Formats: sequence, C-alpha cells, structure tokens
Amino acid sequence: RSTATLIEKESGTVTFADVAGLDEAKVEVLEIVDFLKKPDSFTKLGAKIPKGVILVGPPGTGKTLLAKAVAGEAQVPFFSISGAAFVEMFVGVGASRVRDLFQQAKEKAPCIIFIDEIDAIGQSRGRGAFSGGANDERESTLNQLLTEMDGFGTNTGVIVLAATNRADMLDPALVRPGRFDRHIYLELPNMNERAAIFKVHVQGLIMAEGIDLRALAGQTPGFSGADIANICNEAALIAARRKAAKIEKEDFMDAIDRIVAGLEKKSKIISPEE
Ligand code: ATP
Repeated sequence: RSTATLIEKESGTVTFADVAGLDEAKVEVLEIVDFLKKPDSFTKLGAKIPKGVILVGPPGTGKTLLAKAVAGEAQVPFFSISGAAFVEMFVGVGASRVRDLFQQAKEKAPCIIFIDEIDAIGQSRGRGAFSGGANDERESTLNQLLTEMDGFGTNTGVIVLAATNRADMLDPALVRPGRFDRHIYLELPNMNERAAIFKVHVQGLIMAEGIDLRALAGQTPGFSGADIANICNEAALIAARRKAAKIEKEDFMDAIDRIVAGLEKKSKIISPEE
C-alpha cells in the first residue's frame, strides 16, 4: 500500500446541512468548529483546546459524515485513515504511517485527522483478538499514536476525531486526559430524524407527487442513516430499471423490502445459530 491510499486527504465539501438529525452531537462538534476557526479566542484565556474526540455510535449513524462536516464547516483539510487498514500492514509500517500522518497534518494545520474504526488499533490490550505478529504490530501502531497525541501541543490546530462502535473496548491509555478525552454519542435516528434523513437523500431524485417521507420514516424503525441513503438510491435504481419517468412510492417500498432482506441476511451470517 502506498501512503496515498492509506492517508486520504479531502477538501471539505460536506456541511452540517448534509447531516440530518444528530442535534446534540452537532452542538458538541460545533465547539470543535469554533476551536479550528477561532483558536485565539480560547487560547488567550489560557484554555487548552482538546486534541482528541471520539465519536461513538452504531454502524451507519453518520460518524464519518459528521467528522467531514466539521472539516467542511471550519473550511480546513480532512485527513482520514482507517484503523482496520493498519492491522493488515507489514511489521513496522503502521507506526511509520502514523508518524507520516501527523507530520502531514501539522504542516497543514489547522486541520482534522479522522481515524475510522479506531478500535482496530486501540482495542484494550490483552484482548487476544490477534495473536503473535499482528498483535505486536497493532501495539506498536497504538504506541506510536499515543506518542503523537502526547507530542503535539494542545494548540497546534490539529484535532483528531476518531470513530468506534464500541467505546468500552478501547484501551484505557487512549482515553486518558490529553488524548481522546471527549466522547460524543450518536444514536440510531428516531422517527422524525429518519424523515429528515430521507429529506436529505431524496434531494436530486425525480419523484412522483405526494410521496410522504414521514410514512417512509414510519416504515423503517431501527434503520440507520446509511440504510436510508441506500433505500433512496435503491428506489431510484428500481424505477430506472422499469424505465419509469418518476420514482413512485412502490419503488421505495420495494427498496425497503430489499434492504430489510439484505440486513436479515447479514445478521444470519454474523449469528448463524439464530
Ligand atoms: P460506520 O460505523 O459503518 O463507519 P458511520 O457512522 O461512519 O458508519 P457514515 O459513513 O457517516 O456512517 O454514513 C454512511 C452514509 O449514510 C453517509 O455518507 C450518508 O450518506 C448516510 N448518513 C448516515 N447518517 C446520516 C445522517 N444523520 N444524515 C444524513 N445522511 C446520513
């Protein structure tokens, strides 16, 4: 793997308008936007700007989206890296990639570093998920991450956002003060939030009159934002396949059925006994 494929840099085009629901999480990340935009107003009072924030929530709830929106709103670069990618790396590579990432970020500060699936590297030690070499590699990557977090000053303008589904699995060393000491929780959307997510994702779709987004929200309890984004695209594909001029309510219903079937299949694979 080259550095380029592992460390992705994007210029921020996502904004809070793309993120539906998640009102509490948005209020909390708004503070980070302010830190990035107006660091002086905090530092002149002697405040230390947090370095690391963990976004915690089930898959597809918008953790990556929200992190990108922070960068977009603050108009700063967004460097992203996936924790899972480190685990596959050759010995010694993980740690040097972490070093590269922080080096690049410091040069481009103010900016956001986003570490997706941080549990893949930051899982509490001795959990035995990996054995031998892979585990050593993970530990040296984790240690490098801790070193970097401690090494850069509080007011460098680099804020590290990380995402996980399971905050309780993280190594206590990661969540110590001065590292990832803030947690922001994202929940699965409720009825109103699902309607709002539908609204975001039907933008740009050619729909028949009178499609009730609240009714669609009522039919999708337990669905994540990612599932809803999927439904909207699937409905458009279904309508296109039958050469329709507009997407009808039935296309959405078919799409929901399809996503439900997909989710059921996935959960069967995860728990075959059930
Ligand atoms: P994972 O834990 O699986 O990495 P995640 O929490 O990072 O998931 P995202 O990758 O941010 O989830 O979400 C995937 C896609 O789902 C987003 O790009 C977006 O299209 C849609 N989505 C998720 N949540 C929302 C939301 N609150 N509002 C609008 N769209 C959403």
